[in-house]
Amino acid sequence: TPLAGASLTVSALSKAFGGNQALSEVSLTAAPGAVTALIGPNGSGKTTLLNMISGFYQADSGTVELGGEQIQGSSSYSVARSGVSRTFQTPNVPAKLSVIDVVESGYYATNRASLLASILRLPSFWRTKRTSQHEAQRVLALVGLTAQQHELADSLPLGNRRLLEVARCLVSSPRVLLLDEVASGLDEDEIEVLATLIQRLSAAGQTVVLVEHNFQLVLRLADDIYVLAQGKVMAHGSSAEIEHDPRVREEYLGI
Ligand code: ADP
Repeated sequence: TPLAGASLTVSALSKAFGGNQALSEVSLTAAPGAVTALIGPNGSGKTTLLNMISGFYQADSGTVELGGEQIQGSSSYSVARSGVSRTFQTPNVPAKLSVIDVVESGYYATNRASLLASILRLPSFWRTKRTSQHEAQRVLALVGLTAQQHELADSLPLGNRRLLEVARCLVSSPRVLLLDEVASGLDEDEIEVLATLIQRLSAAGQTVVLVEHNFQLVLRLADDIYVLAQGKVMAHGSSAEIEHDPRVREEYLGI
C-alpha cells in the first residue's frame, strides 16, 4: 500500500541555549520516498533539530513546513497530529502493556476525538476500537511482530522494541517518520531487519528522516545526507558525495 509521505522543509532554523548557539541557520529538505539522514559528532545539534521539528522546542528563528504548511511554533501535540511521528533514542515502552496495546496507543495518541470517545465510552469508541485493532495488526505484520503481539512489550529484546516503536509511529499513518538512533545497540541481524523495513517504507512513499551514528548504515540507506558540525550544515549530498567528501572524512570521520 502506498504511504502518504509529505515533504518536510526546514529553512534557516536557529536555536541558542543561553550563550550556546546549538543551531545556526540550518536548512534541509526531506522528500517523500527518500531516506534523508542527519549525521554529525556529539553536540552538533542533531537532537535539537529533531526536537524543534517535532515541536518539543521552539526555534529562535526560521521555519519548518510540512507539505507546504507551516508547523513551526505549534505544540508537539499538534505537530504529531499534523503527521510528524518520531521514535526516541531510549525506547520508552510502558510496563505491563502487550505489544499490540502499545501499537494501539499510537493510534489514540494522534486522534483526540477517539481518545475522548474511549474515555467516555461513546458508541463511536467501539467502531474506533475495531479500526485501531485492525490497524495495529496490519502494522505489526509490516514490521514482523505478529507472533509477539500478545507478549509484554517490555519483555522484548531491544531489536524488537525498536521495531515496536516504529510500529507505534506507523499506526498513526505519519507523513514524516523521524527515526532517532534506531540502530544503536542492535546486533547485525537486528540491524538488517530494521534496514530492510526502512527501505520498504521509503520505497512505499514514506518520508523518512534518519538520525544515525552508524555511518555504514547511513551510506547504505540514505538518498540524501546532511552533515552537521557545531550547529551548522557542514556538507550535504548523496551517499557517494558524502563518502568521498574530504572535509567530512577529515573533520567528522577523522580519516
Ligand atoms: P547532538 O544530538 O548532535 O549530539 P544536541 O542537539 O544534543 O547535539 O546538542 C547541541 C548543543 O546544544 C550542545 O552544545 C548541547 O549541549 C546543547 N543543548 C542541547 N539541548 C539543550 C538544552 N535543553 N539546554 C541547554 N543546552 C542544550
